[in-house]
Amino acid sequence: MADFDFDLFVIGAGSGGVRAARIAAGYGARVAIAEEFRIGGTCVIRGCVPKKLMVYASRFRDEFEDARGFGWAPPPVSFDWKRLVAAKEKEISRLSAIYRANLEKAGVAIFESRAVVEDADTVRLAADRRRFSAGTILIATGGSPVLEPDIPGQEYAITSNEIFDLPVLPRRLLIVGAGYISVEFAAIFARLGTKVAIASRGENVLRGFDEDLRCGVRDALTHAGVDLHFSMLPTSIEKTGDGLRAHLTEGYHVDVDQVMLATGRRPHTAGLGLEKAGVELDGVGAVVVDAFSKSNVDSIYAVGDVTNRLALTPIAIREGHAFADTVFGDRPTAVVHTNVPTAVFTTPEVGTVGLSESEARAIYDCVDIYSASFRPLKASLSGRAEKTCMKIVVDGRSDVVVGVHIFGEGAAEMAQLLAIAIKLGAKKADFDATVAVHPTSAEELVTLRMRTARYEKATAGPEAPDAVVVEG
Ligand SMILES: Cc1cc2nc3c(=O)[nH]c(=O)nc-3n(C[C@H](O)[C@H](O)[C@H](O)COP(=O)(O)OP(=O)(O)OC[C@H]3O[C@@H](n4cnc5c(N)ncnc54)[C@H](O)[C@@H]3O)c2cc1C
Repeated sequence: MADFDFDLFVIGAGSGGVRAARIAAGYGARVAIAEEFRIGGTCVIRGCVPKKLMVYASRFRDEFEDARGFGWAPPPVSFDWKRLVAAKEKEISRLSAIYRANLEKAGVAIFESRAVVEDADTVRLAADRRRFSAGTILIATGGSPVLEPDIPGQEYAITSNEIFDLPVLPRRLLIVGAGYISVEFAAIFARLGTKVAIASRGENVLRGFDEDLRCGVRDALTHAGVDLHFSMLPTSIEKTGDGLRAHLTEGYHVDVDQVMLATGRRPHTAGLGLEKAGVELDGVGAVVVDAFSKSNVDSIYAVGDVTNRLALTPIAIREGHAFADTVFGDRPTAVVHTNVPTAVFTTPEVGTVGLSESEARAIYDCVDIYSASFRPLKASLSGRAEKTCMKIVVDGRSDVVVGVHIFGEGAAEMAQLLAIAIKLGAKKADFDATVAVHPTSAEELVTLRMRTARYEKATAGPEAPDAVVVEG
């Protein structure tokens, strides 16, 4: 190891890279990290954190409106986008400085430059062309928004990278795509006063999520005034006198101030030199790794979004930590990617862990569903037309809970705690034996006694014919 400039060179100071660098340094490794944009990465600078701050900002609108039902006569309110952007910038700069300080405290050498791989144990900095050798190279370069569809006028569109720092709040916004980033920003901007439209290829939002949650989010967006254009994508974008005109399939068009492309993210490996170093990439450019995050080249590892396993911050952090434990801590650690809780911060929000109903029905030969849809107590006085939905998915043979899906206020916080129960292999009987906290929405999870449906395959096994509903 001593022959190299560093034991570990990390490319990318985001969630995964920073964790890996700090933990490896803690084991005594000589570590360097390179960052081409801002320390903290997507999550801190232009992802989870600023987005959640904007979610909070947007929800005040509902609070002001709801307050009347509880006896308040709120003073006239107004919203200042520039003040929100400035406050957000102050907070993410503070967090970025903490990340930097923690790296420095751990003794990690920081290079603020793009870095590329020259060969299996050499990294080159783009800023000054310096080269460093390293016993191990960790690729933690994250992902970037895909610029699709590739249409005339696409250069007028922005992505989530730019939306946080728009100089003015758009009066009208078209979001292309219907994944979690799209619906979150639609919910935010609709509440901040923007007229929002979504155009997407599919027929509903949030592909891959449980069907009931998808419908709940779709209806809540419509209720918030978002225009949903399903099975419709832009074919071109042109500049007009006062903004942009997005032409959609079927001959429709939408006049807006901004078009945001939210059609997915792609591993950030272009021009990184990985092919030259012999590193195998998959069809979308992700680094192909084993359970310990090692690529096909022994000295090159990769963690986080760049591996396209599960693009979430806590996963990138875990993979970074596990990598450092494995390579520098002599504790081989693989990250398990099942039963990962996740949230979609629409309003109301989504919290989910485990298998959706359709996933469970594809795997198990008997699936029990317990679900409820109800008006939360707060809505009784606020008058808000809001529904909370909960669904528990159970393996009907073993009684083990294999998925829980919630749409409603506090769903993300609930999902975090439910994930512990699911990880411990809780059965539906354990949920039933748990005493409720009253009055809450979460109590519904332990008081759902009546099975809503049972789906049983005629014969067990993967070749079984389509599931048959025997009870509903
Ligand atoms: C709008 C948005 C909202 C999100 N919300 C959530 C959420 O609520 N919850 C959640 O869990 N996840 C969320 N995510 C996903 C989350 O941000 C990512 O999963 C996470 O940041 C991945 O961490 P990473 O370390 O793999 O990559 P990143 O955090 O993206 O870090 C990669 C870093 O590498 C740098 N880099 C790239 N190439 C080079 C190079 N050649 N040289 C030097 N530096 C380089 C980049 O500038 C970047 O700083 C969100 C993402 C977006 C875009």
